[in-house]
Order: sequence, then C-alpha cells, then structure tokens
Amino acid sequence: MHVSLLDILRCPYCGGRLELVTSMFQRRDGDEVDAAVLGCYCCIFPVVAGIPVMHLEGAAPTARAHVEAGRPDLARRAMFNIDDDGRAARLDALASSNDATYQEAVEALGLNLEGGYFFYRFSDPSYLVAHQLARAVARTVLRGGGRAIDICGGSGHLTRSLMDLSSPPPVLADLYFSKIWLARRFTAPGCEAVCCDGNAPLPFARGTFRYAICADAFMFLWTKRLAVQEMLRVTDPGDEPTEHLSPGAVVISHAHNQRVWSPSHGQALPPEGYHDLFETIAPRIFSEAALFADVISGGPLHLGRHDSRAVLDRDPAVICIATRDPAVFKAHALDQSPGAPGELRLNPLYHAEPVGDRLRLRLSFPSDDYKEEFAACRQYLPDDLVVDKAALAALGTGALPPAMVDLVRRRVILDLPKRYY
Ligand SMILES: [Zn+2]
Repeated sequence: MHVSLLDILRCPYCGGRLELVTSMFQRRDGDEVDAAVLGCYCCIFPVVAGIPVMHLEGAAPTARAHVEAGRPDLARRAMFNIDDDGRAARLDALASSNDATYQEAVEALGLNLEGGYFFYRFSDPSYLVAHQLARAVARTVLRGGGRAIDICGGSGHLTRSLMDLSSPPPVLADLYFSKIWLARRFTAPGCEAVCCDGNAPLPFARGTFRYAICADAFMFLWTKRLAVQEMLRVTDPGDEPTEHLSPGAVVISHAHNQRVWSPSHGQALPPEGYHDLFETIAPRIFSEAALFADVISGGPLHLGRHDSRAVLDRDPAVICIATRDPAVFKAHALDQSPGAPGELRLNPLYHAEPVGDRLRLRLSFPSDDYKEEFAACRQYLPDDLVVDKAALAALGTGALPPAMVDLVRRRVILDLPKRYY
C-alpha cells in the first residue's frame, strides 16, 4: 500500500485514523508499505503483502502476530489460509516468480473450487453488463476527477475496468485476502487493495470516493442496510462545492431478485426491497436483462429507461443506481476499453483443435453448473467456429484483421491482463 492510503483509512470499529506503528516491524520501499502494523484508538491491524487487513476475522490475528514477530512470509501464508506445507511452498514460489500466471495462482490457492467463476469472469454475462455500467457511470461521475471503489470486488476484474477512470487509482475491497492479492498481482496491478468485511462499517473516511460499485455480491451480504448506508457515506461529497464536480454515484450490479430463483441465489431481496435500502436518495432500479440486451446488440446502454414493476419482477437480477448527477441517466455509447492495457488472447472457454492451417474452436464449459448459471453467454459466444491459425497467433502484433474484430465483439477473443493463463 502507498502511505497516502493512511489519509483515507479509518478503523471500522472506532472510526479513528490509522498510523504506522513505527516501534514494530515494518518493511517498506520508499512510500510503498509491504508489511507493517497499523494502529488506531482501539486496535492494531497488519499490512500483509502490501494489503492492510482491516478486520479481526479468521486468520487476521494470526497474521498480525507474524508481522509483529518479523515474519511477513508467515503472515501471507496465514492469510492465504494454507496449512499444507507443500502447497504453501508452491505459492511462495509463485509469489516470487515473474512468469507465474493468474490461472496457476488461482489453482494453487484452491479458488478453482468456485467453479471457474473467477477464471472465466471476463466473458460472463453479468461482467459484460457491470463493465459497461462501470465505464458509463464512472466515466460520467469521475469526469472532473475522483476515486472509485470496487466493494466485494473479488479478484479485481471490475477494478480493472476502473483503472484509467479513477484518480488516484481505484480501491478494491474484499474480505478474501487471496482474491485481492491476485488482483494486485495480476488482474488490476496498480490498484490499492484493502481486506475488509462488507458486513461491517467500511474502513474509509466519509466522502473518500466519488463512485462505488458492488457487483455480483450484494445478495451475499447479510447487513444490507448497513452496506448501502456505508456506500452512501463513503461517496458523500458533504459541503464540497460541486460546480465542476459530479455529486458521485453508488451502483449495485447484478443483485438477485427474491421473486425469481437463480443459481447461487444468496439472501436476495425483491426489487422494492433494494430500493428501500436507500433512505436518503431514491435509486433507479433497472432490469439487468434489458441492459444486457443493450450490450449484446452493440449499444447504447440506455440508462434513461424506466423499467416497469412487472419487468423488474420477472428478471432474475436487478441493478440499482443512486446518484444526484442527471448526466448518468441517459444513453451511453458502449466503451470497449478494458480499463487497463492487456493482451488479446483466445477466450479460455474455447478448446482449440488444429485442422490443417486452421483451428477449430469449440465452446467448452468448466462444469454443468457454470453452463446453467451463465447460459446467456451463448447469445454471443458461438458453440463452434473455425479460425485462421496464423491470424490467431499474430494477435497483438499489429492492426487487428477485420475477421478478428467480430471475434472481439463476440468475446471469443478477449483483452486479458498479461499473464492471465
Ligand atoms: Zn479502532
């Protein structure tokens, strides 16, 4: 973490500012703190692998003790939640290697248990919508500057969408240390990451951010009322003059609808339940299916629409946008920028088989559960296609050949972070 993060960090319990406890072990490189102990009025918290751990759950107290004892390596191992020595050694090797890939690290961390959700995230339907929402809404409210936060952002796929829009760099917040470590390392290098509990007050000062998003995770939070009030608090501009600045926005993307069953349902609310969580500002609630249709038809993303109660009630997922910035609620052209430069690669959902100088690509899902949960991806991902082997091999070495442009649009070719797989 950059030391400037201390300006915005607050204890989730006492609300106090955090300071580096200089009498205890610390490892830093200039203004970048890799391992240290932070103290407030009530508590001390560790910084592990450059990530402040702002909660007391699970391995956090053990990790803090390791940092205090001058063993940041053991602190990281504790936060990875690994007790198998072989696996821990493999992860230590991956962490210090420049050639390791995101896929290898996900597997070594045991996150493949999530059915491929993270690995295949860049082409899943809810990501497509959340990415365009992030680009449209964040670009609008951050036009005069300001910082973004991705809450419960997992391994940072959507944080990446915010990299070039947020200044200073976006903050990724999630309870699962392994996931945010992956984000800092592979998916969204340059972001700041904070390990914190979405069911507790957010460890940030009021008005720190101008844009907050929580995508694909809100229905798994138990303290939804607190979470919404916290998102409003950390984006509250207060008395700041807003002549040239946007008053900011809070977005909840892909929140499951209590009235329609979906896989990994969580503790979903009905659309009006999400609406009523926002006590001080009326959010607009959108049908995700309608915005998804906008995205796969090539845009624009119609945020000026008013979806009827009947439309919202039958959609498995809804989207909430709360803002006092009228520029958000209009049509936005789609924005194909990935947010941070990566490299064009074949979507890992495709299995390639050589046929002469061509390649036959077949869509192949990691599991039946994945196939069911993300079935809507078949509206843009073809089951079967043949491509020129040389054209695929030449990706990224010059202008994109016309035949490949359509494959990018269909998400067969993806702009992926470097060393993704
Ligand atoms: Zn405190």
